[in-house]
Amino acid sequence: MALFPETMPRPEPDMDDAPYWEACARRQLRFQSCGVCGLLRHPPAPICGGCHSTEVTWVTAPAEAEVFSFTVIHHASHAAVADNLPYVVGLVTFPGLPGVKLVTNITDIVPSEVRIGMPLTLWWDDIGDGMYLPRFRPA
Ligand SMILES: [Zn+2]
Repeated sequence: MALFPETMPRPEPDMDDAPYWEACARRQLRFQSCGVCGLLRHPPAPICGGCHSTEVTWVTAPAEAEVFSFTVIHHASHAAVADNLPYVVGLVTFPGLPGVKLVTNITDIVPSEVRIGMPLTLWWDDIGDGMYLPRFRPA
């Protein structure tokens, strides 16, 4: 069962982030790396912010991450999340992937117990129609 109900708006891949979502559909968390200077970036973008190259490679993230920052949501910004309150939106980072920060949900924890630096483990949220979203829970 998905974290949020099926009325939750779904990702709408575009030409820049389609490879990211295609990897997620295979339950692989991958991030862009510049094909020239190696600078990592997320969300996906057409050019490197460091050297302006359009060359891209993709690197696979480890399943381990940590809380860089987070907020606890107490008010529903969309009707689909009303039954999930309160829930945690986290900004997570990955060992060995400097510069990459992913906005995601931190689950399976009482929101008041989330802490910056807390180790996390990736899990894949099946939202149907072959789409999976990366979410995290305490390691
Ligand atoms: Zn570059």
